[in-house]
Amino acid sequence: MTLLKVAGLNKRFGGVIAAKGVTFELEAGDMLAIIGPNGAGKSTTFNMVGGQLRPDSGEVLLADKPVSGLAPRDVWRRGIGRTFQIAQTFVSMSVAENVQMALISWHGRILSFGARAQTLYRSEALDLLDLVGMRDDADRPVRELAYGDVKRVELAIALASAPKLLLMDEPTAGMAPKERSQLMDITATIARQRKIGVLFTEHDMDAVFAHADRILVLVRGEIIADGKPDEVRANARVKQVYLGDMGVAAAMRARRGRA
Ligand code: ADP
Ligand code: MG
Repeated sequence: MTLLKVAGLNKRFGGVIAAKGVTFELEAGDMLAIIGPNGAGKSTTFNMVGGQLRPDSGEVLLADKPVSGLAPRDVWRRGIGRTFQIAQTFVSMSVAENVQMALISWHGRILSFGARAQTLYRSEALDLLDLVGMRDDADRPVRELAYGDVKRVELAIALASAPKLLLMDEPTAGMAPKERSQLMDITATIARQRKIGVLFTEHDMDAVFAHADRILVLVRGEIIADGKPDEVRANARVKQVYLGDMGVAAAMRARRGRA
């Protein structure tokens, strides 16, 4: 059974068409990247899948059951998780406690007022931290961590709800290239092991082409290409409207770097 089916999603903001007939599928265990220039409609598409935005028309099906129109929390309950930045209020808590809080929330446990999540789901939290390579840092406050390590904790938190599908909208924004490919490596390994489908966006084309099983190219709300990395790389329209632009952008960045 196909994990995710997105069929004919349309979304308009006033005069802007942010999504036009967006249609694609994602299999369990696969990494699917959505790329496209700024304003192409990537976040709009993510938010329609995650329930943050209601499409004007079209449908989102998770394991053949419709989830479009449900509230974000209900979409999450059905098995669509996403990475969120750790809230400022939680940075004083330890790494493990942050993951324990996510597990408590997922399992619907209510803590007595003022209690801390010291023991509940501790071993499950440590297992998730092991998965993302952060177990040794379990008892450090999050505020002490390097940025790339915080991102790995955010991934462990997203995994606490055992999602079938994980949405990652620019997960590596602001990260150094090495940390970036590390995070994508870990994500790809976990996706394959646990048969989680991952839908992600990413500005770094090297990271996209290295980690995606399939790539969708979105331009002005429309999918202009959908295929394996090699197919997308060779697609004439993609080269023309998108990778061409990116080539120019990369060249300008490189020039600024040298100046
Ligand atoms: P991307 O994530 O690919 O950069 P977005 O999905 O954020 O693109 O935006 C697609 C288009 O829709 C852009 O033109 C953007 O300005 C517009 N847009 C996105 N969200 C809103 C909104 N809430 N209100 C009005 N316009 C929006
Ligand atoms: Mg965006």
